Amino acid sequence: MHRSPVVLRATNLQSQEDRSSVRIHFSALDFKLWTLGPPDIDRVRPPHCPCCGSVGHALDDRIQLVGHGVRRRSVRGVIVWGETPRSWSVFCRRYRCRGCRAVVVVAPRGLLSRRQYLASAIALALVLYGVDGLSHSRVRQAVNPDRHHGFDADGRWRTLTRWIDDVGRGLLGRLLRPPSGTPRRQVAATYARALSVRSLCHDAIIQVSAMDGAMMATCL
Ligand SMILES: [Zn+2]
Repeated sequence: MHRSPVVLRATNLQSQEDRSSVRIHFSALDFKLWTLGPPDIDRVRPPHCPCCGSVGHALDDRIQLVGHGVRRRSVRGVIVWGETPRSWSVFCRRYRCRGCRAVVVVAPRGLLSRRQYLASAIALALVLYGVDGLSHSRVRQAVNPDRHHGFDADGRWRTLTRWIDDVGRGLLGRLLRPPSGTPRRQVAATYARALSVRSLCHDAIIQVSAMDGAMMATCL
C-alpha cells in the first residue's frame, strides 16, 4: 500500500467527519499563493490517496480524489526573515477518495495542527531568544502581529516558554533534546541550530535556515 511521507494524521482541520478517516497532505506550493485564495483544484490534488493508495488523477483521466470543498484557517507569524509579522487567511483544499471514502485536507507547508502560528515563526522565536539572546518582549514583537499581551508577572511571554517545551516534545519533528536542567535559553538555541541544519539553505544566516528547516518539518 502506498503511503506518502508527507501525510500526517489530521487533528483540528476537520469537523464533522470521523477523525480516523481524515488525513492531511502538505503541499509544497508557495505559502503566499495560498493566501490569495483556494489554489486550483487540480494544482494541489495529492498524487495518491494516503489511506488506500489510489491514484489521485489517473492517466485515463479518471479522478479518484474528488474535490470536497475548502476550509479557511487563520495563521500568523513571519515567513520571510526581516518582514513584519502578520496574519493571513489560507484556504485548505479538501478531497474525498472514491475508493475508501477518506477525506484528505491539503494544506501549505508550515501549518501546524492546533496552532495559530506558522512553524517558521516558532523557529524564528527560538533563534532570537536562544541564539541572539533577545528578551521575551523583543521576541514577541518579532513574531506576533497583535498588540495584545500575554506576559507573566515576571515579563515572560508564556507562548515562547510553551513553544520551547513543545518543540522538545516533537512539535517541529524529532530533535535531539538537551539534558534536563539545561537553561531554557540554551535549549532554544540547541533546537534553533538543529532546525537550521535540517534546511537546504546551507549558506544562509541561521534566522533564515532555521525558519526554512521548520517549514520542512511538516514534510518529514
Ligand atoms: Zn482512498
